[in-house]
Amino acid sequence: MSRGSVLQASEGSTANPREIVLVGGGHAHVHVLRSFGRHPDPRIRLTLVTKDLDTPYSGMLPGLVAGLYDRDDVYIDLEKLCAATGTRLVHATATGLDQGRRHLLLADGSSLPYDLLSLDVGITPALDRIAGAAEHGIAVKPIGRFLEKFDALLERLYRPDGPRRIAGIGGGAGGVELLLSLRHRLLRDAPAHGLSPDAFSFALVTAGDILATHNRHVQDAFRKTFAEQGVRLIENARVREIRADAVVTEEGMELPADAVLVTTHAAAPGWLGNTGLALDENGFVKVGPTLQSLDDRAVFAAGDCAALVETPREKAGVYAVRAGPPLARNLRSAALGEAPQPWRPQKRHLALISTGGKHAVASRGWLYARGDWLWTAKEWNDRRWMRKYKDL
Ligand SMILES: Cc1cc2nc3c(=O)[nH]c(=O)nc-3n(C[C@H](O)[C@H](O)[C@H](O)COP(=O)(O)OP(=O)(O)OC[C@H]3O[C@@H](n4cnc5c(N)ncnc54)[C@H](O)[C@@H]3O)c2cc1C
Repeated sequence: MSRGSVLQASEGSTANPREIVLVGGGHAHVHVLRSFGRHPDPRIRLTLVTKDLDTPYSGMLPGLVAGLYDRDDVYIDLEKLCAATGTRLVHATATGLDQGRRHLLLADGSSLPYDLLSLDVGITPALDRIAGAAEHGIAVKPIGRFLEKFDALLERLYRPDGPRRIAGIGGGAGGVELLLSLRHRLLRDAPAHGLSPDAFSFALVTAGDILATHNRHVQDAFRKTFAEQGVRLIENARVREIRADAVVTEEGMELPADAVLVTTHAAAPGWLGNTGLALDENGFVKVGPTLQSLDDRAVFAAGDCAALVETPREKAGVYAVRAGPPLARNLRSAALGEAPQPWRPQKRHLALISTGGKHAVASRGWLYARGDWLWTAKEWNDRRWMRKYKDL
């Protein structure tokens, strides 16, 4: 084989472009689409494989639940984004990899060849850890399926004989915001459905302290907020079972509840076990600082489904968003035969956690602040991010 043909195979050419297949339309991949759309290269062909045609921006989901945003504010239309960026869209569910042939396996039995593959497929709920959770709990993740579950819940809550005792399990930022946002929505809209806001009760159960990864001031601020809003907070209680009418803790405490939102830890998508890739003990794809799989340089992973072995970070949308630019750069470099560059995500990030309505608490390291202005700042920032993927 001549040197020319080797270069052609490894770097791509206009006649024989390198195939990059992106799996999942998560927060990192929408940036990759935009980046390649703005700087197209005829030597590279991009394909997005996604099981959902719309993808929500996690930072705005609490506002959607609270009734402060419409669906269109929060969802990115992947068909439009692909059309605007010249990306081929394959509406399908990935189920595994044939690493030897470099083919992505799809649920309908077909497969898709790739030169480089990137995974940004999020996480799935780990309902098996709590008895009865699959039957009686409402799993908030994966967020791709969140809206249909939420709409179904609202419909039930507004029925004359619908659930009234609402419990959340999980005291992380997502769980806290979700419960307070739902309370805000119900108190605002219940009268229009002929219901008294007083008919509803709210409780949050968490295995450790509330907002365990945040500083003491932030935790205390939310304890106070819960008390002010009449939301019962039960800390350091691990839920053992969810029944149709109650949540039961390891200690045997029974909390009456007829709608239970589960926002505890989620698990890696099971099908990653069919990829042959190196996975961590929780089933997430192990990647190095270039976001490449530790045992297959042709495969990248980012967002919640990736385990950054050198720089482990919590699974949060903010890290999936930040992985977008280095992922786009490294996919381009790898496709063109250049060396991908390492990326070190910052250790801390500013979290703006809403208290249900248009008010937020800021948290970063030991920093703590709160105010309506923080919610306004968050809204401005979130809408600016969304415009990048909607105003094409
Ligand atoms: C209610 C709620 C509020 C949250 N609020 C915040 C917040 O304020 N800040 C924050 O940082 N984080 C927040 N999070 C966490 C955040 O949602 C996740 O960390 C984030 O969505 C992860 O992004 P991702 O890109 O990894 O994957 P995702 O956004 O989950 O995207 C995965 C995509 O992959 C697609 N997909 C999945 N499996 C397949 C498959 N087999 N084949 C093809 N496509 C597939 C899905 O359709 C989806 O489009 C919140 C989560 C929830 C549920």
